[in-house]
Amino acid sequence: MTAQILDGAALSKRLRAEFKVRADELALQGTRPGLAVILVGENPASQVYVRNKIKACHEAGMVSFDFPFAADVAPKLVFDKIAELNSDPAVHGILVQLPLPPQFDEAEVLAAIRPEKDVDGFHAANVGALMQGDPRFIPCTPYGVMKLLAETGVDLNGKEAVVIGRSNIVGKPMAMLLLHAGCTVTVCHSRTKDLNAHTRRADILVAAIGKPKFVTADMVKPGALVIDVGINRLPAEAGGGLCGDVDFAAVAPIAGAITPVPGGVGPMTIAMLLANTLTSAERFAEGTVK
Ligand code: NAD
Repeated sequence: MTAQILDGAALSKRLRAEFKVRADELALQGTRPGLAVILVGENPASQVYVRNKIKACHEAGMVSFDFPFAADVAPKLVFDKIAELNSDPAVHGILVQLPLPPQFDEAEVLAAIRPEKDVDGFHAANVGALMQGDPRFIPCTPYGVMKLLAETGVDLNGKEAVVIGRSNIVGKPMAMLLLHAGCTVTVCHSRTKDLNAHTRRADILVAAIGKPKFVTADMVKPGALVIDVGINRLPAEAGGGLCGDVDFAAVAPIAGAITPVPGGVGPMTIAMLLANTLTSAERFAEGTVK
């Protein structure tokens, strides 16, 4: 069996072209979708993510407002900026790049963002809405995974889905989306006993662990749809570069479909951030949100 390669770069490009058409239409009616990005400190990975997000935003006909703060900034200044953006009519999405330096309480920061502009979907009100099956914004990475799964044409109803990882950003919302799609969902994590017994049952296996090549061929059911969320930088002695949580070379020959790293889930995360920003702008323009 040769796995279908789920090309997130190509799908993301297709979606972003569609978003540009919608963004331009909205701009003709007087609303140019706007995303505000707050970045605190100089974490190199965060700087790269933010740069990519801003570039993608511009290419899709949206405006970005970029607010860099020094690592030692007093939290009050960031909270004041969030309050200002909450009521700025040119801003439809607010994103605070995580992680934040230690003087911040991340939960407090996320709670300060107006839920109607919380395009990351991390505000407790939006997490609750997702849990109830009526999401306002779906967190970007799991949202992108659902789009990639849809590309396979496989009916998810009744399928066994196993998610490895239970973070608020990926694992938990991922499990919730798969549940709403009709899967029987198991969430595995660092305390799970006999992980392989779970993963080998999975028709859909999502790895969001943060450990290079953690998922090996013996952990995968033949024909499974394997989604690799992990982004790991390999040490120079291992050749450098990026790799996922799945041993792609070993797993691809037995999987039904698999995402590569890079070029799988990563580009989809950015595409879905744009999708959420656009949706938010459309809601404000229609007046369903004021
Ligand atoms: P996290 O560190 O918050 O969570 C990792 C999870 O893995 C934890 O829930 C932990 O219980 C689990 N885990 C750790 N060791 C394990 C083990 N031995 N067995 C089973 N489970 C284990 O990380 P996160 O924020 O969820 O991110 C996970 C990975 O996804 C990272 O590599 C991150 O860089 C990547 N990521 C990618 C994107 C993207 O756009 N592609 C977005 C977010 C995160």
